[in-house]
Amino acid sequence: MWLIIGDRSRTEPVPGGRSAQRTCPKCGALSRFREHRVLKTFRLYFIDVLNHDARHVMVCGRCDTAFVTDELAGTRAKLDQQGTVVGTLQDAAKRTRDAVEKGAIGDALRKGRHALESGAVGEQLGDAVQQTGDALRRLWKKRR
Ligand SMILES: [Zn+2]
Repeated sequence: MWLIIGDRSRTEPVPGGRSAQRTCPKCGALSRFREHRVLKTFRLYFIDVLNHDARHVMVCGRCDTAFVTDELAGTRAKLDQQGTVVGTLQDAAKRTRDAVEKGAIGDALRKGRHALESGAVGEQLGDAVQQTGDALRRLWKKRR
């Protein structure tokens, strides 16, 4: 069996990011460079599992070559797990925690206990037992 693992690298523009007019060392053109974020993702069987590296680069508007330049010194890239398996698990854990903290589960338990204590459940069970008994008696009479 083949174990298919790999790394994917995505480059996306940073909204409101830096921009600079420079001569590109690669294509030689005077070009507008724009700030981008490079995100590296570990993949298993072509599924994005975990983002493990993020950095900012300046990308040439003409040839799309990325460079780490002096104006990016000290810029920390945000490493999030959006769109990965780890991110999905983190979201599920957060939603569960929120449901417990916000009382959705607690409310359901309180409603259930109230229904039991108020006798509503017992009443309904009694009715159901009564109806089942009636139905069985009718069926029994028919068979005779
Ligand atoms: Zn270029």
